[in-house]
Amino acid sequence: HAKGGGRGQACLFEAAMDETAEARRALERDLRAAVGTGAFELHYQPLVEAGSGSVTTLEALMRWRHPEHGLISPATFIPVAEETGLIVPLGAWVLNQATRDAAAWPAEISLAVNVSAVQLRHRAFAQTVLLALAASGLRPERLELEITESVLLDDTEANLETLHLLRRTGIRISMDDFGTGYSSLSYLRRFPFDKIKIDRSFVREAGHLAESGPIIRALVGLGANLGITTVVEGIETADQLAAVRAEGCDEIQGFLFSPPRPAGEVAEMLAALRGRAAEAA
Ligand code: C2E
Ligand code: MG
Ligand code: MG
Ligand code: MG
Repeated sequence: HAKGGGRGQACLFEAAMDETAEARRALERDLRAAVGTGAFELHYQPLVEAGSGSVTTLEALMRWRHPEHGLISPATFIPVAEETGLIVPLGAWVLNQATRDAAAWPAEISLAVNVSAVQLRHRAFAQTVLLALAASGLRPERLELEITESVLLDDTEANLETLHLLRRTGIRISMDDFGTGYSSLSYLRRFPFDKIKIDRSFVREAGHLAESGPIIRALVGLGANLGITTVVEGIETADQLAAVRAEGCDEIQGFLFSPPRPAGEVAEMLAALRGRAAEAA
């Protein structure tokens, strides 16, 4: 089928593949070297109560400060960290750092930490979590672990057991990116999640498409019927906020309230959000 420039295109394509594979190897090499060197930082993004606007939770979101490429997004390096197993030491660092940060926040604010399948599957995971809590003095009731459906897809029984064990200590378990997987609904039967975070893909088009509203309404209703706290992620505009508030979700997360901010700016962020909540009241 390759007519005319076909061969040239194939060569270009291979060159691009090589570059990509090369870039991937460089990323992996740099990531390996960076673990344990203080190259990672945590930013925090608030979840607010839909009604009052008060902050319930701060979600820890990891960033990598690369010497040449600047701040690298987790969407870029988390997949590599998962494939290489580097997510295990990195994730342990996140748990230790985040619980220490959170111990200094007002006591009514919880900490949410994202957990990959690779981490949960690791036999020392529960111990890592409990040691981080003990070392920081953070009460287990103030910690939420966010997992995605992929976490439950493999090694399901062992993973569920670990989650049950952690939940019995008072830690809460959230399902992240709810509605994006194949079997989000069936997992609600298999594990007593405390919170579901409705993926922001349902919101992105809420202003334009009539379809998103009924879906969000149905998912919020599902959560309410099961006694599970519902969060809508990715709220960027006042219109979206009004729309999801009307659907009755419990909590909201998005750039409209605040983007993720460095740990050192949390106090300032909380003060600003308190001001806005008071104004709106
Ligand atoms: P996530 O857990 O679903 O986190 C929410 C992501 O949505 C964050 O991206 C956040 O910055 C972004 N976001 C929040 N509100 C808005 C909004 O209004 N508009 C838009 N466009 N985006 C919004 P981020 O920080 O790039 O993180 C991406 C993903 O990387 C996270 O998705 C999570 O799955 C993963 N991740 C981040 N930190 C960690 C970590 O410490 N451990 C693990 N295992 N995964 C992490
Ligand atoms: Mg999350
Ligand atoms: Mg999410
Ligand atoms: Mg996500």
